[in-house]
Amino acid sequence: MTYDTQPEASHHIGGRYVEDTAGAAIPVIYPATGDRIATVHAATASVVDQALAAAEAAQPDWAALSPRERGRILTRAAQIMRARNHELSVLETRDTGKPLQETLVADATSGADALEYFGGLAGTLTGEHIPLGRDWVYTIREALGVCVGIGAWNYPTQIACWKAAPALACGNTMVFKPSETTPLCALKVAEILTEAGAPPGVFNVVQGLGETGARLVTDPRVAKVSLTGSAPTGRKVYAAAAADMKHVTMELGGKSPMIVFDDADIENAVGGAILGNFYSSGQICSNGTRVFVHGAIMERFLDRLTARLTTAVIGDPLDEATSFGPMVSEAQMNIVLGYIDKGRTEGARLVTGGRRVDREGFYLEPTVFADVTDAMTIAREEIFGPVMSVLDFDDEDEVIARANATEYGLSAGVFTRDLARAHRVTGKLRAGTCFINSYNDAPVEAPFGGVKASGVGRENAQAAVEHYSQLKSVYVRMGDVEAPF
Ligand code: NDP
Repeated sequence: MTYDTQPEASHHIGGRYVEDTAGAAIPVIYPATGDRIATVHAATASVVDQALAAAEAAQPDWAALSPRERGRILTRAAQIMRARNHELSVLETRDTGKPLQETLVADATSGADALEYFGGLAGTLTGEHIPLGRDWVYTIREALGVCVGIGAWNYPTQIACWKAAPALACGNTMVFKPSETTPLCALKVAEILTEAGAPPGVFNVVQGLGETGARLVTDPRVAKVSLTGSAPTGRKVYAAAAADMKHVTMELGGKSPMIVFDDADIENAVGGAILGNFYSSGQICSNGTRVFVHGAIMERFLDRLTARLTTAVIGDPLDEATSFGPMVSEAQMNIVLGYIDKGRTEGARLVTGGRRVDREGFYLEPTVFADVTDAMTIAREEIFGPVMSVLDFDDEDEVIARANATEYGLSAGVFTRDLARAHRVTGKLRAGTCFINSYNDAPVEAPFGGVKASGVGRENAQAAVEHYSQLKSVYVRMGDVEAPF
């Protein structure tokens, strides 16, 4: 089945598509061929203003709806999203280049999970009654106001939903700016929320580059900013938001460790390392890109890894048999090729891959380096591509110290059959999410986010509610006021 990729217009504001061709043209490139599949225009100052004005105007009435009514709209949006999963997955594939095999199960479906989860949660968001003898305090959980969401290019549908669902459930409205690299999918989220009954202005999408994001972040009408992006951008956005004491959620990058002990089930550990390095062609923030393997099992691990990598099906992402697609853009492919070069020149052993695939589009081979040391660039910097660094270790304390020796702290994984060790080690790993004998699961029921330079705040789960609402305490005196004079 073919679907249109050119959207009706660039932005979605106040419940309808809005165009302003005065904004710079942004070409949308299909990464598997390099062909232009659509064009959108960056938001002009007037478009940004329209979106913020629409969100500001809609917010009081949206917050005044009964939470269950807001929840019902989100739940309905989840149902529409599931019903349109195939179409949305094809669009996600064309926007990002990720194989349809993945997008059918990991994108609109994950977005629908978030809408459904927070739709259900909306009616349960209550305050507290705090007795103080005769007097008492009650708390009201209030919306923050207008929230801004800014997305990265790797999971455009999921990121829009992970931000919109808790924000809207709590009674906020949102202006969302997708990455300029993948501008198409968030427009569908806006379309679907509107179809589900979200009043005009509740969820708006504007296109643009970093400067559009910066304009949104600094606008005085905005109460909160949630960014998914790199750590350098996070630092800028956090600082800009801090100037006006705005709330923030920062979902940033990582250089996460995965530790494979000598008693691990090797096939499961190899499976985890594949999922944590090559799913979405390695373009996942939580990837376990530093794979620490115990020296005693190193060669067996590498043998099984290289054998299983030969079964990757590299090809047209729209073919459901394809399991490994291109990089999102030529620019990202070149960044990753630069890291592969650094790995070689700094003395890592190239076990497999390392080259651009000889076909149209921005394809790289799944790449594994062994004999990587902690000081090498590929072991320190986030690559955001299909490059796994394998490091060896002998001792538990040593590997924990090395795993933690990074500015990042998004995720960490441990493979071992010794459960006491698994819990002991995860207790010492400095990461927002840890996996035991697994990697990269991200159910909406579990809080997701980083520590250290990987970010602040949490998405998903009940934890997200804390970041999209604030508490008002109301002190109620039941007797007379006793003033000193
Ligand atoms: P970037 O940090 O380059 O961009 C993220 C978003 O911020 C884009 O929409 C970008 O616009 C926008 N932006 C850039 N500068 C500013 C600014 N000064 N003010 C406001 N907004 C701005 O990240 P990428 O898009 O390259 O995504 C990859 C990064 O995202 C990786 O580091 C990855 O680890 C991280 N990431 C983190 C996740 C997490 O949950 N922790 C999940 C997924 C990715 P534009 O690019 O259009 O110019």
